[in-house]
Amino acid sequence: MNVARLLTRSARTFPEQDAVLVGTRVWCNYRELARRAGALGRGLTERMGLQPGDRVALLLHNCPQYLEILYGAWAAGLVVVPINHKLHAREVEYILSDSGAQALFTSVDLGADLRLDARLAAIDVGTTDYSALLTGEVLSPLQRAPDDIAWLFYTSGTTGRPKGVMQTHRNLLSMGLCYFADVDPVQRGDASLYAAPMSHGAGLYNLPHVMAAARHVIPESGGFDPDEILSLASRLRDVSLFAAPTMVKRLVERAMARGLDGDGIKTIVYGGGPMYAADIEQAIAVMGPRFVQIYGQGECPMAITALSRDHLMNRTHPRHAQRMGSVGVAQSSVEIRVAQPDGTPLPFGEIGEILVRGDPVMSGYWGNLEATGQTLRDGWLHTGDIGELDADGFLSLKDRSKDMIISGGSNIYPREVEEVLLRHPCVREVAVIGRPHGEWGEEVVAYVVPRPGQALDTDELDALCLAHIARFKRPRQYRLIDELPKNSYGKVLKTALRELTLNDRRQPT
Ligand code: AMP
Repeated sequence: MNVARLLTRSARTFPEQDAVLVGTRVWCNYRELARRAGALGRGLTERMGLQPGDRVALLLHNCPQYLEILYGAWAAGLVVVPINHKLHAREVEYILSDSGAQALFTSVDLGADLRLDARLAAIDVGTTDYSALLTGEVLSPLQRAPDDIAWLFYTSGTTGRPKGVMQTHRNLLSMGLCYFADVDPVQRGDASLYAAPMSHGAGLYNLPHVMAAARHVIPESGGFDPDEILSLASRLRDVSLFAAPTMVKRLVERAMARGLDGDGIKTIVYGGGPMYAADIEQAIAVMGPRFVQIYGQGECPMAITALSRDHLMNRTHPRHAQRMGSVGVAQSSVEIRVAQPDGTPLPFGEIGEILVRGDPVMSGYWGNLEATGQTLRDGWLHTGDIGELDADGFLSLKDRSKDMIISGGSNIYPREVEEVLLRHPCVREVAVIGRPHGEWGEEVVAYVVPRPGQALDTDELDALCLAHIARFKRPRQYRLIDELPKNSYGKVLKTALRELTLNDRRQPT
């Protein structure tokens, strides 16, 4: 089982089908994509001397070469190490050294900041060294065992050092198949638009699209530009994309401002962070039934639960409101449970840690048996997320366990407070954290980003909280801020906010 075979199969069946596009311009069809990937695979083994199991790092922008390198490396039995090009030089060095990468493909200026190991072969995709690798004979994908590693993805490391998540060929295949079963049945000719980094889950969504011989579209901006997406969708048609909730919000605001409804967009898969109920309701009001939510994490990418289009649109269901605020039901390849810290399952309606098992769950962390043992226990992945399952199988996420606030012995889930604050029309974004408190253990602090040009009265925020949630959950302080700190995937860095809060307290007044 080698996932590289998915490409050779599609290329044999639909050689003339457009495969990779840059904007609306066709870069190559499936025959050419498979040829380039196969030639690269041979180049990696014969010219560069790499052996199956060796690691190849990809420090690339979203670029048309991404897929040929990915499938070329897989064909040669190599392990791909995707690296977000926005990472700091020290973080890149750490990933290269921890993974023991032997080769690096890059599209970024490596500059003097990055200290590369002399043994690492670095190839810039814009050079003749790269094009020379694409000229030879084609390599047929080597046989791989289902449990051989294909994708070594470093967690975003919001706590401690990033860990290398080992995703096997089996993991990736089952994740890809779940897309058809639980997210969206891809048709030949559909287009997957890469507006989020291909080094993350959005890039893995190439798999179901390669399986179906769909088009892969690299936006000319290389990333997320709402106007570009709206225009590409209306020209290319049947476009699907993954977008983090903040991206969805910006896209919807832009569509609304221009009087557009997202024509040409087939599906926007959103996830990776909390989508507030008011935001998805607005998104559907503006763009209609184009949304599907997924919940996943690097350890089980994109494949824990899904909230389908049907569920999002089934407004007459008596539990529609709760479902809109949930992350949906277990995807077809996994089982989920909510459990006590020792792993004992909890009854429906009780809050605990979310555990997952099934084919898309990682085989472990690279070279880190201790962390693997803590995270994979008794066959279950301990996600570190806190949630609640209802009797119909819908999972609601509360928070990451580390984000939960304990004040006066009571648990406060920041998301609940955030949902309330977001009801205020002048609030654009919000993040709630806990601050150490001598008497209560922790107290609630809200960081609030006002909408541009709006004056925000924090008494009104307080009144909102008093009207909707228990008094003890109310923020004791509101701090207005221009922008929330986010990592390169757009996730709010609550650790940075906690540090900010502590540092401010240390300042003499
Ligand atoms: P990462 O491993 O960087 O992809 O981060 C995964 C984490 O993002 C999960 O463990 C959740 O805490 C969060 N997350 C992912 N999907 C969702 C979602 N649909 N709603 C809320 N949080 C999510």
